[in-house]
Amino acid sequence: MTRIFPDDRSARFSTRAIHAGQRPDPTSGAIMPPIYQTSTYAQEGLGINKGYEYARGKNPTREALERNVAALENAMHGFAFSSGMGCLDSIMKLFKAGDHIVVGSNVYGGTFRLFDKILQNFGLQFSWVDTRDVQRIQDAMQKNTVAVLLETPTNPLMHLTDLAAAAAIAKKGGALTIVDNTFASPYFQNPLDLGADIVWHSSTKYLNGHSDVIGGVAALNDDGLAARLQFNLNSAGAVPGPMDSWLTLRGTKTLALRMRQHDANGRKVAEWLANRVGEKQVFYPGLASHPQHALAKKQMRGFGGMVSVETGSKEKAAQVVKRVKVFTLAESLGGVESLVCQPAGMTHASVAPEIRKEIGITDGLLRFSCGVEDVEDLIEDLDQAFKGL
Ligand SMILES: *Cc1c(COP(=O)(O)O)cnc(C)c1O
Repeated sequence: MTRIFPDDRSARFSTRAIHAGQRPDPTSGAIMPPIYQTSTYAQEGLGINKGYEYARGKNPTREALERNVAALENAMHGFAFSSGMGCLDSIMKLFKAGDHIVVGSNVYGGTFRLFDKILQNFGLQFSWVDTRDVQRIQDAMQKNTVAVLLETPTNPLMHLTDLAAAAAIAKKGGALTIVDNTFASPYFQNPLDLGADIVWHSSTKYLNGHSDVIGGVAALNDDGLAARLQFNLNSAGAVPGPMDSWLTLRGTKTLALRMRQHDANGRKVAEWLANRVGEKQVFYPGLASHPQHALAKKQMRGFGGMVSVETGSKEKAAQVVKRVKVFTLAESLGGVESLVCQPAGMTHASVAPEIRKEIGITDGLLRFSCGVEDVEDLIEDLDQAFKGL
């Protein structure tokens, strides 16, 4: 847990992205935060130290990242982890056996796996609901519900949840609202401002943005909750190294620039695909044909670079991924380079086939992560890949 510098909330987004959490190093004036590659810290006497004892608990490079991300999410406290899943695992350890959690049915495959295959064995109870309709959250609330866990837009179907309405329902039921904001990034959406209690990210994706680090971050406002999460972070120890913290901090400096380009490219690619295969087959909240386009405009400031498309069959999907040259077939998303994946066989392979079918993750579904290349090259690439389809 690292509390933001008080003046880090005053500047506008891009300025915060570049400066928040970072001050020139007092010993040398170095403009970039040093990589404090250390596991421990010299202490002056028994019980006398500079606030740093052992680097699982605290590291100055990591603190700079934690302050930076907290400032971008309009939060008071930031936390950095060694992966998005490590972050979520430490968040879930705020709860105990017998607690009940309402979860969106179309969350990231790894989230599903962590809950269904591991945490359920420790006595946490989960109800999976289609949170596009917030009434279903209300209907799933129980006396022992401690949290409502949301992802919006979802991976890969781009379903949205009305965050303000969902957070109000959770609050009335005495539950925390926890939001995976990986897809939108803080540049386009700030769940805490809409009533959520904890926002978290796979910083592997847009925050770092260069496909060279695995990481997770969380941010929140409540001091008591922050102390509890810091206890979990230090106790469970899924912390990032200083080098990865530093790389992610370098990534967030260009977040605003990158997100504007991801968004511009995403919109153009989605429009092209809608013309090519029909707008019903394209999932992108920025398309006027998206069933939740109005909600997207209300709670997001842009739509980002993630576009999914239903090609119709596994064979057609296979043809597209075989032919693309600028897009690379790979898991992950949110980097400067464009990627494509087949969720059913890759990111969501751990979701049972019946459940995949029920929620619409077919074998013909492809998910594109539009990078920041020249969009003409992306469209030309898709044009040749979809030929004859
Ligand atoms: C990748 C991803 C995660 C998991 O994060 P890791 O950094 O891979 O552990 C969680 N949620 C979403 C939406 C993701 O895309």
